[in-house]
Amino acid sequence: MKKGTLLYRGKAKSVYLTDDPDEVSLEFRDDITAFDGGKTAVLDGKGKYNAAVSAFFFEYLELHGVKTQFIHMLDERTILVRRLAMIPLEVIVRNVAAGSLVRQYPFREGDMLSPSVMVFDYKDDSRHDPMVNDDIIYALGLATREELLAIRKMALKVNDLLRTYLAGLSITLVDFKLEFGRWKGQILVGDEISMDSMRLWDQKTRESLDKDVYRFDKGDVMATYAAVAERITPGALQRYEAEKTVFSREGSE
Ligand code: 5GP
Repeated sequence: MKKGTLLYRGKAKSVYLTDDPDEVSLEFRDDITAFDGGKTAVLDGKGKYNAAVSAFFFEYLELHGVKTQFIHMLDERTILVRRLAMIPLEVIVRNVAAGSLVRQYPFREGDMLSPSVMVFDYKDDSRHDPMVNDDIIYALGLATREELLAIRKMALKVNDLLRTYLAGLSITLVDFKLEFGRWKGQILVGDEISMDSMRLWDQKTRESLDKDVYRFDKGDVMATYAAVAERITPGALQRYEAEKTVFSREGSE
């Protein structure tokens, strides 16, 4: 498929129009940013690892009854998705205390959170994504009560599914961020589910397996992303390499 007009360029992904007005393609670039864009780099290959993990998790969620934007992969760094009307909320689910929770509240890093904690941030870089509650969400007209209820239920189900899957790989799902959008009267999971949007710890060593390696200079970011992508989506990258020949043959017919 030919790349259409650029619709939106985010910090790490670009959205392109396609021939179908109901679908867009989402390209995972090699850019990595942290601290509200205060720290940036380009890491060769990062996009394909995040694309592979996102595609894998979207398919996994669909298989388990969670509706997402995902249609299929277009190439190693691009996925075809439904064109959602995005809701400007970051829905964050936390199973273990870390990150901003530890900075802002009297938790110690590593404290188990049971039940899990869900918070909402209003997506606005100029305001540093402030945390909002239900009343602010309604007052700003960001979502209706019915939509917020659906979002909460879906986010908890995603947490159960991902947490269980990752535990089977000896990975702790510390926390993650989801975004949702509207699609023909339904709420679907959008954006990405990748090492950039999750906090993952090795269960045994408590080593970070996510963007914290970049944020806090904890080691080789690309080696970590490559290893965790392979752990989460066993063989997915090799399968892609093998299928690429088939895709390109079909494309040229
Ligand atoms: P924290 O609030 O501790 O910084 O982040 C909680 C979780 O949500 C982490 O897994 C983090 O990666 C994710 N997260 C929070 N804000 C953003 C954001 O603006 N972009 C992305 N990709 N992930 C975020």
